[in-house]
Amino acid sequence: MQIDLHTHSTASDGRLIPSQLVACAAGAGVDVLALTDHDGTDGLEEARCAAIAAGIQLINGIELSVTWNKRTVHIVGLNFDPDFAPLKAGILSLQNFRETRAREIAYKLEKSGIKGAYEGAMRFSGGKMLGRMHFANFLVDSGHAKNVRKVFKHYLVQNKPGHVTGNWASLEDAVSWITGAGGIAVIAHPARYKLTRGKLRHLIKDFMAVGGRAIEVVSGSHDLNETKTMACHASDFDLYASAGSDFHDPDFPWIKLGQLPPLPRQCKPVWDLFL
Ligand code: AMP
Ligand code: MN
Ligand code: MN
Ligand code: MN
Repeated sequence: MQIDLHTHSTASDGRLIPSQLVACAAGAGVDVLALTDHDGTDGLEEARCAAIAAGIQLINGIELSVTWNKRTVHIVGLNFDPDFAPLKAGILSLQNFRETRAREIAYKLEKSGIKGAYEGAMRFSGGKMLGRMHFANFLVDSGHAKNVRKVFKHYLVQNKPGHVTGNWASLEDAVSWITGAGGIAVIAHPARYKLTRGKLRHLIKDFMAVGGRAIEVVSGSHDLNETKTMACHASDFDLYASAGSDFHDPDFPWIKLGQLPPLPRQCKPVWDLFL
């Protein structure tokens, strides 16, 4: 069975509309798909209809932005009720911060000589859910960088002209919104944070203390060694293991939909909790 529990659509910073994403996933042989847009659930309804039509199973998902010890970490929520009021309120607060941050990013870019970034990013976001990817698209389109990866490196990360510090949800709030809605909280792409072993274990402990139960072991942004390391952490802490591509765009050749290696043998699959 092919399972992909981390993907994005145009409801956040992905390139495909939810129904296209589902069709592509089905075409790629995915049996179980979670749509996990950043800080929003607006794509789920369209995805659900498309999944029924395509005969695959859709799991409700989200990827919440969290500030933990002054760092941004991402927490994926799986299999929750999107109508749970505290979750909806939490999403609204994150979206408000996205709006404030977008204006600040544009202001900083303007100070470094790049005009019209807010409107430019808006064009790529379709008027909702502004993220750094939309600024990246604008900066590539307007000739400031060759590709999205270069934009991040030169403009949108710490100590670069368009960087704005995150002020996202607390770990405790994000996990409680998901678990309160009946879902499972998962630490997304843990290797991406470049934490020392000690810091990562600190994150895991804090996460479990507030009700987190799973970690992405297989991820489109993990190499084989990182997968093995995360499988060890999962075993040590008795966490469930998840697998997701973090697919955004068919034109990003480095991440394909639903073509993930199997979980290492010792892992407890997170989908045992809901399939
Ligand atoms: P945001 O949540 O708006 O701060 O944007 C985070 C998103 O930007 C991630 O989910 C990725 O889609 C994208 N992103 C972050 N870093 C990079 C990078 N180095 N290269 C390409 N995309 C990136
Ligand atoms: Mn993204
Ligand atoms: Mn992420
Ligand atoms: Mn993601």
